[in-house]
Amino acid sequence: MTDIKSMTLEELKDFMVSLGEKPFRAKQIFSWLHEHQAASWEEMTNLSRDLRQKLEEYPLTSLHTEQVQVSSLDGTRKYLFRLDDGNMVESVLMPYRHGNSVCISTQVGCRMGCRFCASTLGGLERNLLPSEMLDQIYRIIQDTGEKVSNVVLMGTGEPLDNYDNLLRFLALLTEEGGLHISQRNLTVSTCGLVPRIYDLAREEYQLTLAISLHAPNDEIRRQLMPIAKKYSMEEVLQACRDYFSQTGRRITFEYSLVAGVNDSPGNASELAGRLKDLNCHVNLIPVNPVRERENRRPDRQRVDNFKNKLEKCGINVTIRREMGADIDGACGQLRRRYLTAEREQ
Ligand code: SAH
Repeated sequence: MTDIKSMTLEELKDFMVSLGEKPFRAKQIFSWLHEHQAASWEEMTNLSRDLRQKLEEYPLTSLHTEQVQVSSLDGTRKYLFRLDDGNMVESVLMPYRHGNSVCISTQVGCRMGCRFCASTLGGLERNLLPSEMLDQIYRIIQDTGEKVSNVVLMGTGEPLDNYDNLLRFLALLTEEGGLHISQRNLTVSTCGLVPRIYDLAREEYQLTLAISLHAPNDEIRRQLMPIAKKYSMEEVLQACRDYFSQTGRRITFEYSLVAGVNDSPGNASELAGRLKDLNCHVNLIPVNPVRERENRRPDRQRVDNFKNKLEKCGINVTIRREMGADIDGACGQLRRRYLTAEREQ
């Protein structure tokens, strides 16, 4: 399939030439697609009718908004999008004081199998194309009429398990002539695919790498995350040191607190010991209970204790502010609920 929305400007130029068109058409089309977020060829009014007709042969990747939920607490908007093949993905817009942040999915489902996560319950369906990752952001901009300044890859899927499409997505998103999002305003979150972390460091992007750590040692990490059986925590941390030395970007560690599993004061001290030589920041997230899973979140006091302990050991730490608590919980639960409802009908 020729997916024009996933092409770089250079590729689009070559493609235009192959259609017998002038290369400058590429720039016009690129701008329609990535700057103005056009959803159809028809809209591209500065192209001749002939060319628009010719382009109709190449279906334009465009997501259909199936559902939007808006939080009355904080204005968070959760989108459920339908892809051209009928698959569903979800994305979230979070309005912050410093600008709008969009959280997007990178795969339909996920094969990483983390024990607390709803996105992985049905396994991996398929990778998303670069155009399908971009269009989550484009449709949200078109729906709200608002600017997006931050993009986080923390929706469904493991970004580094869809590596080539991820790189193309990053290039298109940050390129001049498109949305031109600042590299520093991008966050890629991974459960820790070690070889890909080394690869990403060598791409020389100034983006934030977020590592889903969730444990102070291998034993606990293996209980929560199957990937920990493949790569030890030390291997993950070594890759993070390398990422920092290559890019100068401070690492974010995500740590979902699960009551009775990884939330004790001893766990906090051990974690601090493991991270003390790293330039990093820890983001604590009381686990979101998922219907199909048994995990419980610790009470506020225990979360605060964990945070204080880390701080006393000199670690930078924040407790993730919960957004959209009144609309479907985080992490793949909107899509999950949709799929389950469909099956139960
Ligand atoms: N696959 C990537 C990105 C998607 S998950 C990764 O693993 O980082 C985004 C973050 O949400 C990860 O830190 C993930 O571990 C966390 N997460 C998933 N389900 C959760 C839940 N039920 N409660 C709290 N955090 C969860």
